[in-house]
Amino acid sequence: MRQRTVIGNWKMHGSVSTVRSLVTEIIEGLPDSSTDSQIAVCPSFVHLELVRQILKNGGSNIELGAQDASAEDEGAFTGDVAASMLKDLGASFVLVGHSERRLILGESDEVVALKFGAIQGTGMTPVLCVGESQSQRDQGKTEETVLSQVRTITNKFGISAFERAIIAYEPIWAIGTGATATPEQAQAVHELIRTFLATENALTADSVKIIYGGSVSSKNAASLFTQRDIDGGLIGGASLKAEEFISICKS
Ligand code: PEP
Repeated sequence: MRQRTVIGNWKMHGSVSTVRSLVTEIIEGLPDSSTDSQIAVCPSFVHLELVRQILKNGGSNIELGAQDASAEDEGAFTGDVAASMLKDLGASFVLVGHSERRLILGESDEVVALKFGAIQGTGMTPVLCVGESQSQRDQGKTEETVLSQVRTITNKFGISAFERAIIAYEPIWAIGTGATATPEQAQAVHELIRTFLATENALTADSVKIIYGGSVSSKNAASLFTQRDIDGGLIGGASLKAEEFISICKS
């Protein structure tokens, strides 16, 4: 049985004061005994240390994640943040290939793969985001799109890369739109990914966590998370409201 993982992606939101309140409320609402799931939050880079301190002082086992990392180890890359810096700050997860970075910042599959390798090289867990756009879905290209994003990683690093990684299926049309995939739609893609991985290694396919993201809320979380191949969620907007996020984690 795969343990569920729920990760909050706070994107480019918050100030010192709102982030402090948010994480404090989440810790209070999610004492360690309240869920068997693994929980993590991904604040912006500038709030990582603040959140780390509050989690540590609160004795919480909620983990720390980051939203991106450079593909480079170090050097003259103004504005970038190396994976080793995130690890040094206590992060254990890093999102990679989020559709906002692929679409707005033009990150290619190749760049995503390099970042994935850099994150994994530090011992942190990359959370590889994959997903199709509305027009790709309408054209029947969901399978082709999602599997080619997954294949970028297996082609470069082999199937063993997924022994220490999480996959987040995030249909682009569901992100921040309120239009969640139905549990059946999401399950179908999660199963597709797992079946593809099983052609390379059945054990890895069975153990890798595939979480769902795209307008998850306290209302739809339970029906999504009880699907056979859905192992938790990557939560955007709803993770900025402590009460909502707590309720999703308890689902
Ligand atoms: C996300 O951006 O990863 C996400 C899932 O956002 P939302 O929950 O707001 O759709």
